[in-house]
Amino acid sequence: MPLVKYGTEQANKLKKPLFRFAPSPNGPLHLGHAYSALLNEKLAKAHNGSLLLRIEDIDKARSSKTHIAAIHRDLHWLGLSFKQPVRYQSAHIDEYKPYIQQLKAAGLLYPCFATRGEIRAAPNNGITDPDGAPLYPGLYKNLPKAEQTTRIENGEPYALRLDMEQAINQAKALSNGGLTSSEIGEAGQVTEKPITPERWGDVIIARKDIETSYHLSVTVDDHLQNITHIVRGRDLEASTDIHRILQIILGFEEPLYHHHELILLEKEKLSKSKKHMSLFELRSTGVTAQEIRNAFQKGAGALNALMSHHLKQ
Ligand code: GLU
Repeated sequence: MPLVKYGTEQANKLKKPLFRFAPSPNGPLHLGHAYSALLNEKLAKAHNGSLLLRIEDIDKARSSKTHIAAIHRDLHWLGLSFKQPVRYQSAHIDEYKPYIQQLKAAGLLYPCFATRGEIRAAPNNGITDPDGAPLYPGLYKNLPKAEQTTRIENGEPYALRLDMEQAINQAKALSNGGLTSSEIGEAGQVTEKPITPERWGDVIIARKDIETSYHLSVTVDDHLQNITHIVRGRDLEASTDIHRILQIILGFEEPLYHHHELILLEKEKLSKSKKHMSLFELRSTGVTAQEIRNAFQKGAGALNALMSHHLKQ
């Protein structure tokens, strides 16, 4: 079946544009989140579509009820409203399993028993993935089946990794050769971009602790929720290569992507700096939601300026 490109006249007849804002509740929201959420709101309106909120809380160790409550409070304060219901990933863990099975049945997953220390110690010529982590050097990839079974039966914890080389081959066969993602600009123009998922190596599809992963869950949820437009920061642009591979293999329709610029201060990623105030802290110092919206209208530069005027001492 040919893929239908959202945003085209053909697709618009089929589905209503649907956007999502998908924060992970592992810390307070800051101006970078505000930019992303407000851009989703703006583009959803421009496309005459709707906006959903998804809380990406699969990571039990890092997510908390306090952060979830704070996300709702801050988004409400910013004046954002979302089409209901809100999806909490942690309530849908079982829904990811059939897709993991599908990848397994396609011969694309293998159990990996490696500890972090083992991966760090393994020689890999200093190659890193786009997130800067050491590229997985393929430990346990060719473990004999019998040994895999014995280790699993002995209760040894393992992750499931994607055999990226095979996944790329299957995806190429399914999409008649070229592997691309479709990026939509703010003005609505669509550009096909070649993807290079091999730079990620054999990524984890199901973690040892939670039986799923960010990449698998986000791809499945975007499919199950019929998301047509994925608007998120450029820090996630390289991850799109993994998500596209999974979409092609799992037979999902292709969404349009828009990766927006990041709110940066002194070239440092916002979330990593302690000097930056969270939305709640900004609010406590008297910044209003309207001021943030006004800065958003002017662009990322204005939000940067707002941020640098309100640094923590
Ligand atoms: N939950 C992810 C994050 O907060 C974003 C997921 C996405 O937009 O694809 O970084």
